[in-house]
Amino acid sequence: MTSDLNQRAFDRTSNEELHWNLPAETAMPSGKAVEILEFLRWYARERLDSRRMDERRSIDLGVVPEFADAGLLGLQVPRRYQGQELSYRDTFRIMEQLAAIDCNLFVMTAVQNAVGIPPIMQHASDRVKADVLPLLAQGKSLTTSAASEPGMGSNLRAMTTCATRNRDGSYTINGTKRWISLGAASHYLNVFTRLCDEHGEQLGYAGFVVDTTTPGFTAGPELLTLGLKAVPQNILTFKDMRVPADWMLGAEGEGITAANAAFMLARLVLAAGSVGAMKRSLEVAARYATRRTVATGLLVDNGRTQQVLTEAVAATQAVETLLDHLTFQLDMGEQPPELLYFVAKIIASEEMFTVVDRSLQMLGARGFLDTNIVGPFFRDYRLFRIFEGATEAITVYVGKMIHRNPAGFGEIVHAFPASRQVTDLVDEAASFTALRAVTEQEQHILYNVLGDLLCWSVMAALTSSTATRSEMHAYTAQWCEHKLRQRLTEARRDVGLELPSVSTLLSHIAGYEETIGDVDQRRPDEEHCVDPLLMR
Ligand SMILES: Cc1cc2nc3c(=O)[nH]c(=O)nc-3n(C[C@H](O)[C@H](O)[C@H](O)COP(=O)(O)OP(=O)(O)OC[C@H]3O[C@@H](n4cnc5c(N)ncnc54)[C@H](O)[C@@H]3O)c2cc1C
Repeated sequence: MTSDLNQRAFDRTSNEELHWNLPAETAMPSGKAVEILEFLRWYARERLDSRRMDERRSIDLGVVPEFADAGLLGLQVPRRYQGQELSYRDTFRIMEQLAAIDCNLFVMTAVQNAVGIPPIMQHASDRVKADVLPLLAQGKSLTTSAASEPGMGSNLRAMTTCATRNRDGSYTINGTKRWISLGAASHYLNVFTRLCDEHGEQLGYAGFVVDTTTPGFTAGPELLTLGLKAVPQNILTFKDMRVPADWMLGAEGEGITAANAAFMLARLVLAAGSVGAMKRSLEVAARYATRRTVATGLLVDNGRTQQVLTEAVAATQAVETLLDHLTFQLDMGEQPPELLYFVAKIIASEEMFTVVDRSLQMLGARGFLDTNIVGPFFRDYRLFRIFEGATEAITVYVGKMIHRNPAGFGEIVHAFPASRQVTDLVDEAASFTALRAVTEQEQHILYNVLGDLLCWSVMAALTSSTATRSEMHAYTAQWCEHKLRQRLTEARRDVGLELPSVSTLLSHIAGYEETIGDVDQRRPDEEHCVDPLLMR
């Protein structure tokens, strides 16, 4: 393991220029966090073979016990439940490091710590917490949350899985969940359902921790994903599965609140992971650019290369600055505005994917190889724009919330002491909240515009307030301001946009058949079932 990591690796945080007005003791990682970070770098160097995991579509056998031993599977669980009780800062730092190493390991650890454990920590009964949390925190059991279904992903309220209250107070769950990461590997998982009383009367939504050894639970097929191949997603079915009353998360009707516990923290963890993925891609891109000679000389000395790298570094720094801000608030016991969780998720995942793509492009043909980290990052991290709320769905949600409460725009953005010119741009962005759409489609576009404007107003105001910290911070602020200006130009265009009707669009697309046909492969596929003559 590296011995000097403690001294060297945290120059960033010990540098007053860079971090967000943190008291020194909050800025430095705790001893346990340093230990975990050292472990991860050692693990990456000595043990890990990401490509092998990818090809085998499974996590290496040693990962779970070694991660458990290092404390990685219960990062924020209180010590009384055998967890590490780390701060948000330490947790996000560890997740950033992990994402820089491998997306599969990042997602496995994120699902356990940010998707599976929080609903239990925040909403389970004391008895369930006492029974379950020590097992999870010590990595003796994995956990996850099951919300998505075949018929719904973005729209949680459209779920059909149903829990019915029985006369004895227990509940019976019926339904199917899909896409559930670690769904077949978890001993305990959180499942979110509609709720009915014993007469079939709708009572809203509910969440339950369930023991997956209970009769009625079946872990179904693994989905063959494009990337993130070592972390399985499964279809889960619940057929007359009985759950004791005190395994409910919170009270009857509080299912959406409990589900939010699974998804809000996860959005920030994904932002931390995005920072790790951006930094690692840029390290490799910079390595190549300083070694490769092209027609103009050394690649890194080319003006266009310099511009691409600078923009990518600015994007990374902008996301990091937002995350630092939110982390600081959380560690101080404050609750950041809910919409900032969405802003962080949207900006981080979108900018991360651009940075990974540009890094890959900078590597030329080598970017298309499967043998360095950037190509697999491109495939694996694509997911971040989809799960924990797909970008479009949550941008529209943010816009809708702001349209309902226009004062919220200023309250969120003016919390950052921005320059006069950025404040003027933000005020112009906020003025879009006064617009009213005529048709439903215009309203969707308006909400998207507002969500997007809020995102870039936050980024421009925030980075403007940190612009004097260094030359790079000044550039980052300028870059975010430019992005906001661009978004305003697009917004002016979008709100008045006249689009062809849906039927015109669809009939145009249907016309493609004339030139390319419309052919699906009839795959012979593989036989996976046991032959009936051999079956019991
Ligand atoms: C690898 C992987 C792991 C996953 N792990 C889990 C897990 O552990 N637990 C779990 O519960 N789920 C999990 N999911 C599911 C994931 O959260 C959903 O797939 C995601 O929320 C998107 O839902 P959907 O697929 O139904 O897309 P849809 O809701 O069908 O969305 C399709 C498109 O429409 C857009 N859209 C949707 N609504 C709107 C709107 N109102 N306005 C404008 N555009 C909109 C979306 O942005 C998207 O581009 C996982 C998915 C994947 C791929």
